[in-house]
Amino acid sequence: MKIDNRLRRVVIVGGGTAGWMTAAALGRFLTKDGQTEVTLIESEAIGTVGVGESTIPQINIFNRMLGLDENEFVRKTKATFKLAIEFRDWKEIGHSYHHPFGPYGIDMEAVSFHAYWLKLHAMGETDDLGEYSLQVLGSRQDKFMRPNGQMNSPLGSIAYAFHFDAGLYAKFLREYSEARGIVRQEGKIASVQQNGETGHVTSVTLESGQVVEGDLFIDCSGFRGLLIAQTLKTGFEDWSHWLPNDRAVAVPCASGGSISPVTRATARPAGWQWRIPLQHRIGNGYAFSSSYISEDEATSYLLANLDGEPLADPWVLKFTAGRRLKSWDKNVVAIGLAAGFMEPLESQSIHLIQVGIARLLAMFPDRDFRQPDIDRYNRVMQFEYEKIRDFLILHYKATTRNDTAYWDYLRKMPVPDYLADKMAVFESYGRIFRENEELFNDTSWFAVMVGQGITPKGYDPMVDVMDVDELRKRMADIKAVIAKSAEVMPGHFEFIKANCDAMV
Ligand SMILES: Cc1cc2nc3c(=O)[nH]c(=O)nc-3n(C[C@H](O)[C@H](O)[C@H](O)COP(=O)(O)OP(=O)(O)OC[C@H]3O[C@@H](n4cnc5c(N)ncnc54)[C@H](O)[C@@H]3O)c2cc1C
Repeated sequence: MKIDNRLRRVVIVGGGTAGWMTAAALGRFLTKDGQTEVTLIESEAIGTVGVGESTIPQINIFNRMLGLDENEFVRKTKATFKLAIEFRDWKEIGHSYHHPFGPYGIDMEAVSFHAYWLKLHAMGETDDLGEYSLQVLGSRQDKFMRPNGQMNSPLGSIAYAFHFDAGLYAKFLREYSEARGIVRQEGKIASVQQNGETGHVTSVTLESGQVVEGDLFIDCSGFRGLLIAQTLKTGFEDWSHWLPNDRAVAVPCASGGSISPVTRATARPAGWQWRIPLQHRIGNGYAFSSSYISEDEATSYLLANLDGEPLADPWVLKFTAGRRLKSWDKNVVAIGLAAGFMEPLESQSIHLIQVGIARLLAMFPDRDFRQPDIDRYNRVMQFEYEKIRDFLILHYKATTRNDTAYWDYLRKMPVPDYLADKMAVFESYGRIFRENEELFNDTSWFAVMVGQGITPKGYDPMVDVMDVDELRKRMADIKAVIAKSAEVMPGHFEFIKANCDAMV
């Protein structure tokens, strides 16, 4: 065993959300003993993608890992809280549902709440699933509070995430990282050097002529994948036949009225529109397929559907859904958009950055870069991407919309086997099984399956363990407790003002 084979120099290429999240994590764990230098190279001339502002509750794990003060984080990134995503017009025009963070109701007699709800629903006795979720009521009523720790109440375990300003988030993490010894290097990388024998990247050269050498390179260069794709030519798996959106037009607008703790995703004739409320503005965008609508038409559609005055000129981003065949190749690990992209329908991309970082830390290499560890990393990342991909496809496949050629294509397209099986199992008795540690749990799948209008043919016979009158009573009690809990929650705006010293 070699005693000190540690990496001496780590180079992060790119200073967007992926680059600075990676830098912060390495600053937290790697640079303390002064043995490893970490340099982050970014180019102001190239800039960042400038979107990516809605998250899921797992971000709290990352924040805790860094030891962040949440109120400071909310203040400095002009963040708001998020309890759910609201999907409008996805099942059919005029219909809406929420995908909440946190469970519906409570399991009883070791049988899932979902199964009981489906039975009552089949009997025509309950319709609005959202009334059994505190997060949905909070979203509808523009209310928010952090969990109060009382474990016998729904208020004791409120799962939440954030909306934040992507530019301010990168700035915030930059301050954190630089305070922990990460060195930022401004400049555009003009060329990449490789070892003639192994193909490992040995250094990058900036336009200024400066050479930056490294043992490990983390490619956070965005869609271009400067190292993983342009240099190592790792290969890309294209998923655009399932997720055909290939453009997004984005524009911020002024806020008006109250600030809802919810991301809204509204289905449109050739894609969908996001609405992300921050303290100082609303982030908006229309993700669309250029095979069905032009950039000009999509831009006009977006501008005609804003809640306030546009605060900038709209800009268009181009992408292809899919992932690199390997996230880690030789001594290059791709994180963020460099590793792959799926449209942010479930706000999952920043989470995938976090997973990439966490797995890298768990399998951190030394200078030998052993292949079994690299292979394992790639398998784990492939699993993460594919399971999320299938969850996203569900939103398009399970729809009754047939008003445009775009929706006709999506409704009729064949889907991946994993999703087809999950839908078939749900359609028979309303059951959902979570595969290993796939990101989206049974509550998430349930919310979207029901929300998109999939009706099981039968119900789980296990629910007959409870007499129907008893079931009715218990369901009414659950609804009442959740409604009462929502009454106690303060307004979202008031909560941020009172607790985070912000919104002033
Ligand atoms: C339309 C859209 C909406 C999205 N919405 C969400 C969302 O709501 N939630 C979510 O979780 N995610 C969302 N995402 C994804 C999210 O934006 C990204 O995951 C996140 O911003 C990370 O981007 P990045 O850091 O990988 O790339 P970028 O932001 O593109 O950063 C790339 C960096 O590399 C640098 N660079 C590139 N080439 C060079 C070079 N030659 N020399 C030096 N530096 C270089 C650039 O200067 C930049 O600093 C969205 C993405 C898109 C496209």
